[in-house]
Amino acid sequence: MAHRELLHRHRSVMPKWLALYYDEPIEIASAQGRRVTDREGRTYLDFFGGILTNSVGYDVAEISDAVRSQIDTGVLHSSTLYLIESQVELAEKIARLSGIPDARVFFTNSGTEANETALMLATQHRRSGQVLALRNSYHGRAFATVAITGIRGWSASALSPIKVSWVHGGYRYRSPFKDLSDADYVKACVADLREVIETTTAGDVACMIAEPIQGVGGFASPPDGLFREFKRVLDEYGILFISDEVQTGWGRTGEHFWGIQAHDVVPDAMTFAKGLGNGLAIGGVVARAELMDSLQANSISTFGGNPISTAGALAALNYLLDHDLQANAAKLGSRLIHGLRSVAARHPMVGDVRGKGLMIALEFVGPASEPNPAAATALLEETRRRGLLVGKGGLHGNVIRLAPPMTLTEDEAEEALGILAEAIEAVPA
Ligand code: PLP
Repeated sequence: MAHRELLHRHRSVMPKWLALYYDEPIEIASAQGRRVTDREGRTYLDFFGGILTNSVGYDVAEISDAVRSQIDTGVLHSSTLYLIESQVELAEKIARLSGIPDARVFFTNSGTEANETALMLATQHRRSGQVLALRNSYHGRAFATVAITGIRGWSASALSPIKVSWVHGGYRYRSPFKDLSDADYVKACVADLREVIETTTAGDVACMIAEPIQGVGGFASPPDGLFREFKRVLDEYGILFISDEVQTGWGRTGEHFWGIQAHDVVPDAMTFAKGLGNGLAIGGVVARAELMDSLQANSISTFGGNPISTAGALAALNYLLDHDLQANAAKLGSRLIHGLRSVAARHPMVGDVRGKGLMIALEFVGPASEPNPAAATALLEETRRRGLLVGKGGLHGNVIRLAPPMTLTEDEAEEALGILAEAIEAVPA
């Protein structure tokens, strides 16, 4: 089908809120390594890794072989009511990596379902529908997750059974506590947390859910240690803590395997998705047995943990561990941040360069540091024109997000830096 016709048919049959990137959206036809090729034969370096779904690059033989072997058995989906070897092996591996004592794993098809499950477990366990979340958070698009999301552009539900209170902490760049030292910033956020619990809830909070680095919110992260201090307060009140690792898991942040480990704290549950399947649909929850097994009902996910997804995800996880891609993310992430900070020093429109490992963001601002979404949109087009795909995000849509596959090479990092420098230059001031 011709590109124009496809676009026309997309617009006439898909919901209007289903966003597409670019004035002329790209149709990806093939991919290899860190590069994707569109239907017209143009190749791009993928610096958004799908949507952080691609951890180990495209067309990885080990993953394709694992999926193909499963397909060759004729069993695409045997129902998760039966035993599946790759599912059990994957669960064991994730339980071990989680650091959560006596952990249990439940698989879903997406990050949304993973968070819905974690919220269901916590609210049932504590017999309360009151949840704490961070301002500027994103946790998914179903009933409960959309209700707790703290970004107006992504939260749609006014009619939710969940009661939610939002606290400060994640997005420091525009926080009222922005100019404090790290230690004082943490103190101010902890005081805010206490006040929110004491003054906006009935004292019956089930859980707090938080992204260690806010993904959709523009790769915003608090100083290391904030969540350890939060957990102390949560423990005092008997509130469970869920770390949403949908974007921050699998070593992407470089220094740690899970984003929350930068805070030296073990959560009661973690949720995951995106990068685990390297593009295959898989998500899940890993939680303390006491919490996971507290559900007083039967539950199942028809497709969650199906043999195609678990065989592929197991191969992807083994690949990223065997090749120590976390170390590569740390090394090339530092190189990129360093390079981007020197570009930003010449361009006041880049108000902030932040991130960890291969989760890096550029926040675009106007003359009075106000959000500049037009510049971010222009940059998206300028990078595309030069053969580089990046992501957009942030509370005000003014943040460019970089999250290439963790198999990125030094040459590709330099290539991207060159393109970004040129593209920023081309964005009208
Ligand atoms: N949690 C976080 C932190 C996310 O970034 C996302 C998606 O962007 C989700 C949950 C929802 O995941 P999914 O789109 O797989 O449902």
